[in-house]
Amino acid sequence: MTGEKDKILEEIGKKSSLSREELEKKIIAKQEELDNIVSFEGAAYLIADELNVSVVKKQDNFVKIKDIKKIMPDFNIWGKIIQMFDVNEFENERGSGKVQNVIVADESGSIGLSLWNEVVDLNSGLKIGDVVKVENSRVRENNFGNLELRCFNKENVCVDNEKKIDVAVSGTMQASQPVQSNSIEGDYYLISLRKKPIVYYLCPQCRKKITDGVCQTHGKVEGNLFMVMSGIIDNGVDRVDAVFFNTIVSDLLGIEDVEKIRQIEKLPNYLNLSCMGNFYHISGTVKENSFTKEDEITVRKIELVDIAGKTKELEEKFSEIKSAGE
Ligand SMILES: [Zn+2]
Repeated sequence: MTGEKDKILEEIGKKSSLSREELEKKIIAKQEELDNIVSFEGAAYLIADELNVSVVKKQDNFVKIKDIKKIMPDFNIWGKIIQMFDVNEFENERGSGKVQNVIVADESGSIGLSLWNEVVDLNSGLKIGDVVKVENSRVRENNFGNLELRCFNKENVCVDNEKKIDVAVSGTMQASQPVQSNSIEGDYYLISLRKKPIVYYLCPQCRKKITDGVCQTHGKVEGNLFMVMSGIIDNGVDRVDAVFFNTIVSDLLGIEDVEKIRQIEKLPNYLNLSCMGNFYHISGTVKENSFTKEDEITVRKIELVDIAGKTKELEEKFSEIKSAGE
């Protein structure tokens, strides 16, 4: 048993009347109920939720700027603003938006930070020399091969000038290029899934979300099931936003039962899901999200890639070529 498991069992145990053994049994049963797609920690969270016990799992993963990698779980940094660019406003059919680029540095290096929409407004007083804490932002590689952090939520950025940061270097920042619509097919790692509700019911007449079987316009209706998840996939060259709908959500999670999928929704984050980090063959349609101006793939088909099998195939081909050459 790992230290992490011990900690969780102890925390729930303290706040509930269950013994450690009972608790462990319940957690394992929950894992089995969900076809083992959630880890022990994830299942423990769901049990805690059922017991009305709150367990706060604090993400405290601070890294130095030079250690930021393209593929990384949620992480936080401290940085001092060393350069700021003007706010760019854009407008399109879906509405208007804005983005502001700044460069932050610590003693190890510097990185571009892009603030989007409400994050720009909430940080309108930002100035060079301010120290910011950047939490759970998204890493993107720009067209020049430099990594950037993108902040779409107000929780991503907070100023804290009490924190002292030594700065080593300065950096430059380039704008990214527009991309056209087209379809793609290829192998990608699933590197993150956004925490949002998955299961919805829509009014069959107006396709709007209904609550407790009632549409605001059409009254009591038989809702149509609608499922959606979004996340980030990466093939080592490109990192893109991906959206999964309906049966693709089931394929991704490996679960068809909607009630089980609703339980997944209750997890504090989706890091514990077994699909995270998996390598998939994905086909879909790429288009630019007109609001964020980023590429987004609507996934049409997703299949788990058997990496071990692929390696073996390559080895066999290689030995064939070798023996043919002898
Ligand atoms: Zn309706």
